[in-house]
Amino acid sequence: MNDEEIYSEDAAHYLPVFTRYKIILDHGEGPYVYDTQGKKYLDYLGGIAVNVLGHNHPALVQAISTQAAKMIHCSNLYYTEAQAKAACQLSKVSGMDRVFFGNSGAEANEGAIKLARKYAHMSDPDKSLIIAANNSFHGRTIATLTATGQPKYHEGFGPLPDGFTHVDFNNIKQLEEKMDDKTCAVMLEAIQGEGGVHVPDADYLQKVRALCDKYNALLIFDEIQCGMGRTGTFFAYEQFGVKADIVTLAKGLAGGVPIGAFMTSNKIAAAFHPGDHGTTFGGNPLACAAANVVLNAIQHNGLMENAKAVGAYLTEQLKGLQRKYPALIKEVRGRGLMIGMEITQPGRAIVDECLKEGMIINCTAGNVLRFVPPLIITKQHVDELIPVLDKVLAKHN
Ligand SMILES: *Cc1c(COP(=O)(O)O)cnc(C)c1O
Repeated sequence: MNDEEIYSEDAAHYLPVFTRYKIILDHGEGPYVYDTQGKKYLDYLGGIAVNVLGHNHPALVQAISTQAAKMIHCSNLYYTEAQAKAACQLSKVSGMDRVFFGNSGAEANEGAIKLARKYAHMSDPDKSLIIAANNSFHGRTIATLTATGQPKYHEGFGPLPDGFTHVDFNNIKQLEEKMDDKTCAVMLEAIQGEGGVHVPDADYLQKVRALCDKYNALLIFDEIQCGMGRTGTFFAYEQFGVKADIVTLAKGLAGGVPIGAFMTSNKIAAAFHPGDHGTTFGGNPLACAAANVVLNAIQHNGLMENAKAVGAYLTEQLKGLQRKYPALIKEVRGRGLMIGMEITQPGRAIVDECLKEGMIINCTAGNVLRFVPPLIITKQHVDELIPVLDKVLAKHN
């Protein structure tokens, strides 16, 4: 198909739920992607915080190819070495006893919600309330959509399930007022992603932990976007000195192969019995082989240190632009290579113009330019971004 045919087939046949950019991507190499015209782009979006090892990473390609040649899928009725290895690695990095693999972030959160409910109901059948944050994002299934604290995603999909409510992120007083013995779980992103890259105060998550302990409620951390080494530690919550009862991962976990996971302790896991949860595809050897490469690379190839160092450099450079354009740039915030630049106008035009200049960035929450690149980028890649961004921002100042 030529480009025009691809656009017209998509327009005729694909469900029109995405606002796409008008380029057709063909292949990638490290932090770069190339369109069908051969134009090169530096990828500061990384497939939305997914391509943590960049594109076409040799070890990842090798592992996927080798596993595909052996076996792609066999169902969870049998054991595979790839799955056992991935579960073992994840429980080591998280300090959690048990792991369950699904295929996406929404599925990971859906499983976490089911587990929290089942666990709470063992002590009290009315202990059902899940408290999540305004501005959060937890997925698109009916339950995770309900957990997502953004009314625009709810519109038209009711009736939504009972037992969910929201409080402002980083507002401990509101949480305190909502919580009681009927609270089943509090579900939070340690650093909010889609909502605009919001980092909580240093002691907020510790206070949330204390409230959960007081009311015997579970704390669920959705690390789907902020986890996998992106913020400089394997999980973002580590930087706040707290531990959750259930943690979810997805996006970067297998470097682009669909996967999701939730992890928990033996005590909580004991609420689930054979038949209580399941999946056909989840944890298949192909996805797990990919996850094993990524988990290995993050722990042993210095990617967390790189995310921290290059992230600090990128933040500093973006703050330089903020000083240059104070009326346009309101704030630069984030941790490691999860950075948001809040501007005082809608971000779409800036994203479009950066794309024309060969720079892939993204805008979330309407006016927050978001940088979640592969964790392999270097200072040179930052030096490639900044002059382009400067030139584009100058036109909007
Ligand atoms: C992307 C995301 C999800 C949903 O993941 P999907 O794979 O799209 O279902 C959930 N939580 C957070 C924090 C995310 O960033």
